[in-house]
Formats: sequence, structure tokens, C-alpha cells
Amino acid sequence: MTFWNEELETMPADKLKEMQFRLLQNEIKTMYGKSAFFRKRMDSVGLKPEDITDMEQFRKIPCMKKTDLRDNYPDGLFVVPYDDLVRVHVSSGTTGKPTVAGYTQKDIDNWTESLARGMTSFGAGKKDVMQNMHGYGLFTGGLGVHYAGERIGATVIPTGVGNTDRQIQLMQDLPVTFLAGTPSYMFHIADVCDQKGIDIRRDTKVRKALCGGEPWSESMRKKLYDRTGIKAYSCYGASEFYGPMFLECSEQAGMHVWADLALVEILDKDGNPVPDGEQGEVVVTMLQKEAFPLIRYKIGDISSITWEKCKCGRTHPRLGRITGRADDMIVVRGINVFPSQVESVIGEMPFLAPFYHITLTNPNYMDKMVVDVEILPECLPDMTDQLDRMTQQVVDRMKEILNLKVVVKINLPNTLERCDGKSKHVTDNRSWD
Ligand code: ZN
Repeated sequence: MTFWNEELETMPADKLKEMQFRLLQNEIKTMYGKSAFFRKRMDSVGLKPEDITDMEQFRKIPCMKKTDLRDNYPDGLFVVPYDDLVRVHVSSGTTGKPTVAGYTQKDIDNWTESLARGMTSFGAGKKDVMQNMHGYGLFTGGLGVHYAGERIGATVIPTGVGNTDRQIQLMQDLPVTFLAGTPSYMFHIADVCDQKGIDIRRDTKVRKALCGGEPWSESMRKKLYDRTGIKAYSCYGASEFYGPMFLECSEQAGMHVWADLALVEILDKDGNPVPDGEQGEVVVTMLQKEAFPLIRYKIGDISSITWEKCKCGRTHPRLGRITGRADDMIVVRGINVFPSQVESVIGEMPFLAPFYHITLTNPNYMDKMVVDVEILPECLPDMTDQLDRMTQQVVDRMKEILNLKVVVKINLPNTLERCDGKSKHVTDNRSWD
């Protein structure tokens, strides 16, 4: 099966946009009636639901932020009683209170539908046996992917995170074709397989993976494929939406944003929409959400969106790779640096593993940026001057890309930290005391 819902997924773009706007008006009307929080937002700029007649009017609604969810902790934004909720997920915040998301049955159904469409779009189906290595529990990845796997008729093995030896044992013993998990955990699996002398291509049937939960790069994808033969497909989402819900299709040319379920805007620093395909801040509106309003939500990610029809035949727009965090940007000696830029340089170096860590210090109040990278085992140099040349090559390229002189330290294989969950790439030890 190529499509999960062919008529809807291939609907002409103008019709789709019309439907999207009708759903948007309807959601605004519903939430204005039910949510004191949202009503206040609309009232603060003198808007009533019937005023939202086009996108320009819609963009007058003030954006929501993560702080709105935290300020209303735990459930102040919910617009339905617990009687009508069937699940609650909680995402851990790196700072402050966690975010609590409630789901009605329809919310769960829509979430599952979005993932079922996405999995079908890269060729997954009932013939697949999926080993789900996402964390089950409060994190949305585990249960979200699990339900969708069952919905498309695949066989789901709910291994969850961790116990890598057992994961690899099951990959070999059962006819697993498909892994789901974070990109860094995929590399961890590959590392451990190497140590055990297991060739994933030869010793397992695993050929594809659904990767999400943390940012990663095109070069990491290529390295994973070269090492393991696993074709990985990205996904994007957050518990504030439902969970992971926008997936890459077989074309691997962006993640399809289901336009009947969500509207994604990409805005510049002044809050104006950027042209199709250009980078800006991702702002998400959920169009059929029941449990709480998520309207013009600034999640803090940087990406782009295009409505150009995909080669797969789907007309729903495609969100580009997440290239940075609006608040991830670090300022070093007055220069804006995104960790994703560092990652792209590392990806260009054939002798480096896709792991890095940035440490910032400021001796004598002068910013110093150290980038720890890791050499691939097969590229270990036998002479020191060879290592010096490699280091210089990375330093020079960083200078070109970042416009900044950084210190590069090449570490031995398997020395930098691998994370099962979200990787944390920057340690900022600067102090201005
Ligand atoms: Zn496509």
C-alpha cells in the first residue's frame, strides 16, 4: 500500500488549503467558547472568532509559548473534564516545571492516524516487524509509535529504551525489519554490534528505521546507512501537539505536515511569514485538538516549509530538517553559532564519528570554544603529525562555516557520551562574575 488515505493525502493543494482554513476557523471558534485562556488572548487584541477571515487576521492572534503551558501547570489549559480524557503524557522540562498534555479519544485517534499515514508513506506495513526502542511511559514516542505500528498492521515488539544486548539479541532472533528509536541510540546499537562482530546487513533483516526525539543531520543518516544498511526516516513532533506526528516519506525530502490536523507557519524574527522554503521559527497550530488549545505555538525550533508537491504524490506541505533551536543559538565572541553548524562540519569529515561536544569558557573574559570530536576506529592515525593534519582540517573548516576560531580536540573512539534520550551538546562554563 502506497497511501494510508489516498484521497486526503493527494487532494489538490488549493482544496486542501481551503479545508485547512475551515478547520482552523472551527478550532478557533470552539476554543474561544471553551478556553478562558484563549478567549483572553483573543480579547487582548480585540479579535472575535468571526474576525478570522484570512491568514492576515489569524496572524494577529498572539503566539503561545512553552511558558504558557508551564504557567498553567498542571492542567489549567485543559478544556475537557478528566471524564473525557483517556490519557495524559508528561514531558520533562530541562528547566522548571514539566509540561502536561491531556488526550481525548479523538486526540489519540488523530495522533495514531498521522503516524499511520507517515509510516505507510515510507513503505512500512503489515509485512513489517517493528522493534520499538522508544521510551514507553510518560514520553510520547513509545506509545505513539506503538499504536501506529499496530494500526498499519505491523507486528510491534515493545522493547523500550535500553538493555542494548537484549535489543541486539531480539533483532537477530526475531524477523525484525524495522527499528524505531532516537538517532543516537541507533549509533549505539551499531557500535555494540561492531564490538560483538555482528553485521546488521548479514545477521538481521533490519532495513529501515524511524528516527526521532532529537535533532540529527543528513551526514549522520548517511553514516548509519553505510555502516548498517538501515535506511532511516525522520519524524517530528512534541507532546504539546500530540507526540511525533510528521514523518518523511520514501522520497526523504522533508516531513509531511498533515494539513487537516495541523497548520505550520514559519516566521522571521519580527513575526512575519518567510517565503516558501526559507528558514525561520516554527509555529504550530493544531486544527482538531480537543483536550486543550494549541494555537500559534512557538516551539522554539528553526526550520522551513514548502507546499511544492512531493514526488511521492502527496500534496501536504513538507517541513524541512530542524536546523537549530531559536533559543539554542550560542553567542561566542559576538558571533551567533548554532550547534547544527558544528554538526554539519563534522559530517563532512570522513574520519570522524557523528558525535561532538562543545565546551565554552571565558578565561580573562575572552570566549573560548572547544569542540570535542571522536575519530572513527578504522581511521586511527599511526603518526602524530597525521593527527595534527586532521585537527587542522577540522579547525579550518569550522573557521569557514562559523567565522570563528575554535579549539578542536580529536578523541579516541567510543569516548564521547552517547545518549539514549536527548543529546545535550553544549556545556557553557562562562562566567562574568
Ligand atoms: Zn512525499
